[in-house]
Amino acid sequence: MKSASSSGILLLFLLLISPFPVHATDKAIIKDIRFWSSPGQTRVVIDLSRPVEYRANRLSQPDRLYFDILNASIPLEIKKNLSVTDGILKSIRAGQFNPETVRVVLDLERMEGYNVFLFDDPARLIIDVNAKRSESFVTKKVIVIDPGHGGHDPGAIGPTGLQEKDVVLDIALKLREILSKDPSLDIHMTRDRDIFIPLEERTAIARKKEADLFISIHANASPNRAARGVETYLLNWTNDEEAIRVAARENYISMKRMKERMAAYKNEVERILNDLSRDYKREESLKLAYLVQNAIISEIGKEHKRLINLGVKQALFYVLVGASMPSILAEVFFISNSEEEKLLSNDTYRRNIASSIAHGIKTYLSSQTPVQRVSGKGLKPQRGPQNF
Ligand SMILES: [Zn+2]
Repeated sequence: MKSASSSGILLLFLLLISPFPVHATDKAIIKDIRFWSSPGQTRVVIDLSRPVEYRANRLSQPDRLYFDILNASIPLEIKKNLSVTDGILKSIRAGQFNPETVRVVLDLERMEGYNVFLFDDPARLIIDVNAKRSESFVTKKVIVIDPGHGGHDPGAIGPTGLQEKDVVLDIALKLREILSKDPSLDIHMTRDRDIFIPLEERTAIARKKEADLFISIHANASPNRAARGVETYLLNWTNDEEAIRVAARENYISMKRMKERMAAYKNEVERILNDLSRDYKREESLKLAYLVQNAIISEIGKEHKRLINLGVKQALFYVLVGASMPSILAEVFFISNSEEEKLLSNDTYRRNIASSIAHGIKTYLSSQTPVQRVSGKGLKPQRGPQNF
């Protein structure tokens, strides 16, 4: 009698302290899923309402790890598909596998092993996915896309009022979307919304990101409304009046002032250009410019039979000064020409332009010899290292 009573008390006690009550209303709630990429490791953090039991397993074709979190539920508002693409994980997916189980799947790119930690207070499951350190130094190429103008600077304005800043931002966003699908690329933008960024800040952003390529996107304009076509520029000295005119407009100064500046800065510019030629940047920029220009002409030219190839040109663009990586400025169509303004206002055309620029960039990159990084460039915290 006495012993039965103590067993009963013990059972009651166990029920009270059990961390895994079976009652449906006591399900653990998935509160968030975060990840953090660093050289050699991707850390996945699953935030929970309370500690849980889990089971892990690895499956092949495609290679993936999954974690079944028992007696748990995942609310609708939690983001259930996270793209990682850091050379270790491709993506993280989560879902209610059955009424009692939440399954979190890690799609693997390359893994040596993993460790799991269940942390308390607040409760969270931490999964460290490890790659061989040398393997994790993915040769990610960093590309900075610079949509021209923005904010109080509309750029050139077309006959019906289409603004260059809006067109080039949309093309740049589409270009980012296309290039981001390639896990070997790390894409940044100088602006991804309608804000003003000073010219000198744009290459500073590229330098800070240690960019391998810098591409500035603009739409051309001319007082001659018949002027039309596509041209791509790189930074150099020029005596070509048309090229100086385009550069003056993009530099926000008058033609007269542009020529004064060119005279005043000739020595300075020559020094910059000498530095550039020493590290072959100018040759690389030239190659990049030709490949992008040719890709636009051949791909857009399929549908747009009247497309004019204005070729690759050189001029003193302030936005390209100080870029320590191959850098070009593409002038896609003349927004000042009625017919080309109409093309630029067309979503399909903008996508085609973005796709052809992406093609040119990829052709350029595939012609490069792969270089092993000595630092974890391109592997940066994705959603913040806070809280663990
Ligand atoms: Zn412009």
